[in-house]
Amino acid sequence: MIPQNIRLTSQPLADYLASKTEIDEAIQNMLARGRYILGPEVEAFEKEFAAFVGTTQAIGVGNGTDALVLALRALGIGRDDRVITVSQTAVATVAAIELTGAQAILVDIDPVSNTLSPERLEATLASGTGPKPKAVIAVHLYGHPADLPALSAICQRHGIALIEDCAQAHGAAFEGRSIGTWGAVAAFSFYPTKNLGAIGDGGAVATNDAELAARVRRLREYGWKERYISDEAGLNSRLDELQAAILRVKCRRLAADNARRRTLAGLYTAGLAGLPITPPAIRPGATHVFHQYVIRSAHRDALRAFLLSRGIPTAIHYPQPVHVQPAYLGRIAIGAGGLAESERASREVLSLPLHPHLLEEDIALVLQHLKDWRP
Ligand SMILES: *Cc1c(COP(=O)(O)O)cnc(C)c1O
Repeated sequence: MIPQNIRLTSQPLADYLASKTEIDEAIQNMLARGRYILGPEVEAFEKEFAAFVGTTQAIGVGNGTDALVLALRALGIGRDDRVITVSQTAVATVAAIELTGAQAILVDIDPVSNTLSPERLEATLASGTGPKPKAVIAVHLYGHPADLPALSAICQRHGIALIEDCAQAHGAAFEGRSIGTWGAVAAFSFYPTKNLGAIGDGGAVATNDAELAARVRRLREYGWKERYISDEAGLNSRLDELQAAILRVKCRRLAADNARRRTLAGLYTAGLAGLPITPPAIRPGATHVFHQYVIRSAHRDALRAFLLSRGIPTAIHYPQPVHVQPAYLGRIAIGAGGLAESERASREVLSLPLHPHLLEEDIALVLQHLKDWRP
């Protein structure tokens, strides 16, 4: 049994302890084989992960940011192109756009799902000053799928590529169809706290387009078509054998872990009924994988301090939307209608402890403290 202090404070450690025997064995086997970069573990993981997502191709890369960069570059996006995404996301989404030399345009979210608003996307495209954007990156924030039917219809109508940022949503689906299969290409991160986490950095690009996949494979290794001959200028972003061996073990339990997250999230939501706290919504048709369990409160900071005084750690995802962070303030393009919902979210959101190794009694403990709280 994993001790309660570890369960509440360190998901990566709890994750490792839950599969320790298998992970240790996988690492020993990998070490003894003597292949440490792009070997049989990566090859096997790529097949297994593609099968999990439901694409024909998955390509292991160095991290989730690089997965986005490689997806954009494989689509031919680069200097002075324009790419639409949200401000209410991990900064990596926007950083990846700029790393290709492209410009980001940030569009507001729908406050129910915390994902890219199709209406605002449409309005931004209609208001079109400047060249037409080449791609839209939809972020499935907190494990809730973005409105994929609406977003893919808009992208198709305008002839714009849809990219899915799946870093927080491994295994989520919309209307029964897995995220990562709706757009031209999808990017995943295996940062240790994600629903599928490595013990270090890792990422993957997933797609059904064999040509696009082949280009990502070249670009992740210097643009080599054959060894030592660069066909185009690429980068070095390879998934290593150690992380692939660990990810193969964890991928086998990912569906069950996601189901466990949903069960625990259901306990939170039932327990919050009648309290002055807004639980996360699940849009009809959405299969939410609860990367985070994010509540809203107009008194968020007081609530957070109260929980901390009771020994309950919480987190804020994210304290500032990207467009007001110092590196971006005043120089990033903002879509039609502004970013009021993104700014409101950053003031109200609070992530309660949630991962598959928590026990029912951990959720009950957090709920007990929440019931004691008075705004
Ligand atoms: C974690 C994350 C990334 C970046 O992943 P890294 O592996 O940390 O580079 C990108 N987008 C979102 C939404 C994320 O949560």
